[in-house]
Amino acid sequence: MKLHTRLVQPDVAPGDPFHASTPPIYQTATFEQESALHGGPYDYQRSGNPTRGALEAQLADLDGGCRAFAFASGVAALSAVLRLVPAGGHVIAGDDLYGGTWRLLHRIGRDLGIAADLVDATDPAAVDAAVRANTRLILVESPSNPLQRIADIRALAGIATRHRVPLCVDATATSPWLCRPLDLGADLVVHSATKLLSGHGDVSAGAVVARDPDLAARIAYVQNAEGAGLAPFDCFLLSRGMKTLGVRLDRQQANAGIVARHLAERLPWVAWPGLPDHPGADVHARQARGPGVLVSFTTGSLERSAAVVDRLRRFATCVSFGSLRSTVCLPCTMSHASIDPGARRLPPDLVRLSVGIEDPEDLVDDLDRALG
Ligand SMILES: *Cc1c(COP(=O)(O)O)cnc(C)c1O
Repeated sequence: MKLHTRLVQPDVAPGDPFHASTPPIYQTATFEQESALHGGPYDYQRSGNPTRGALEAQLADLDGGCRAFAFASGVAALSAVLRLVPAGGHVIAGDDLYGGTWRLLHRIGRDLGIAADLVDATDPAAVDAAVRANTRLILVESPSNPLQRIADIRALAGIATRHRVPLCVDATATSPWLCRPLDLGADLVVHSATKLLSGHGDVSAGAVVARDPDLAARIAYVQNAEGAGLAPFDCFLLSRGMKTLGVRLDRQQANAGIVARHLAERLPWVAWPGLPDHPGADVHARQARGPGVLVSFTTGSLERSAAVVDRLRRFATCVSFGSLRSTVCLPCTMSHASIDPGARRLPPDLVRLSVGIEDPEDLVDDLDRALG
């Protein structure tokens, strides 16, 4: 089956005696055992639940993995991946990560005795050169959030394989509708499902998808042992949102293209991987089905950018992105404020739009009015 069909027709309730056509919400902490010595497929919500099981099977299918794991947030999913690295281990990560990922690596990771090197993930040779004997994880985003720099996933997977280090791609900005990093050789995919996968801005969730059973077993262990699995009702919400992933993203991307091309006529720097002069646009086109819904731009000063953000009416000023409602964010003071100012590589006047499914004319008019 093709992806559109698999989004709408997952096996929502395997074994359900009533043949529910949408995922039943198994709102129960425990499952009665057959006897003291014999349990069923589920025993305790933290370890697994049929609502979550159906969602995880669908997530694994969409990304082409052997298993997937749903977590309470994208950061919880990343945190589970970081557990693959023992104390004394070393992580190589892209140098313009999401703020929360930066904090996880540099604050929590440091407390766990894990060292992190941030390198330019658009340069495979730089990643190769950063590998040490104790490197246990390579973590990249492509396109990165919010600079939209493109990492060549296939090239990085080759390097990771050669050094026998797992490559994890945070594919929050693409979702399986646009890119399937496991097909390109990555070992793990992480999603903040809060963003594109849910698509309605009404649930916080994350996912890890593993290509091989070995890594999957290690993530499964962490999910149960640390207890950050996604709750049944949130699994239901995410399942519901995911059905329209393809139609939402096709429309959102078309709108993003209209917005990006319009802004590129007015402003000196606009980032959207669908613009022909976007650095790495050719690599992105090879590994993804579309440029995505994020459009970043600069205005020349923080004051001007803040004023533009405040004047916008069709773009709600929110952290997060990927909802079918358009939003705007000033990453330096919002989504990426958790990065130490000294380590921040973002222009302070960078504005990030997440383009929704509204009428694009309304969006362009709003931007023109706000830019003055
Ligand atoms: C938002 C985001 C995360 C974190 O996800 P949460 O659901 O907010 O915990 C991780 N990576 C990227 C690229 C993100 O944009």
